[in-house]
Amino acid sequence: MLSGFITCQKCGCAITAEIKKQKYIYYHCTNGRGNCDQKSQNAKEEVIDSYIAKDMEELYISQKMVDIVYKAKLEELADLETYENHALNTVQKALESLKTRRSRLVDTFTTGDIDEALYRHKLQTIDNEEVTLTKQSEQLQIENPNPYATIELVYNRFKQGNTMAERYKTASPEQKRIILSESLSNSFLLNRNIVDLQYQKPYSDFRNLPKKPSFLEMRRRGDSNSRGLSPWRFSRPLH
Ligand SMILES: [Zn+2]
Repeated sequence: MLSGFITCQKCGCAITAEIKKQKYIYYHCTNGRGNCDQKSQNAKEEVIDSYIAKDMEELYISQKMVDIVYKAKLEELADLETYENHALNTVQKALESLKTRRSRLVDTFTTGDIDEALYRHKLQTIDNEEVTLTKQSEQLQIENPNPYATIELVYNRFKQGNTMAERYKTASPEQKRIILSESLSNSFLLNRNIVDLQYQKPYSDFRNLPKKPSFLEMRRRGDSNSRGLSPWRFSRPLH
């Protein structure tokens, strides 16, 4: 049941299951490199299993706080969107006004009011500005295509984290494997015990939060980006 999710802490080899007396399942290092003493350290499945279930309880975070931060994230996003729409509007207006300036310049040149050198110079300036503004406009339109979906997804992950321990405890071995594959990244076994249980994002963030985090802790945790409020943002897309 747990094979594939755990690695030997000492040598980094995979952990394998062994059935003893036709009913007890034990896990130990496969000793793939031939020099690991953990091959003879047999860890009982029940022990490891209850360790995992207990650890999953740490993913619980006050639902009230999750809801508060969720609302704040939505409001913040609405503000950001207002700002981005405003910025896009400004850039598009500037692009429009360049067209007007160009046509006026052409008129001035045609009527002979400026010489050709000045005309070419001014035309070049307008062209350069147009390139810059077009780039800005494109940039504003491609950033984070669906931020609302990300927020909904993280909110759902919080809920899943909150119920994970309970779901795990009552799950069938097959369901347990599904829960583990959706939540663990890698874990390590040493001397018949799990010594390091690692979760995938965003569960790893939840695991590190106190059960009753403050508003700021919830927003700031892992935050390396001024616009990103981890665990509400991901560098990798979720599925
Ligand atoms: Zn080993």
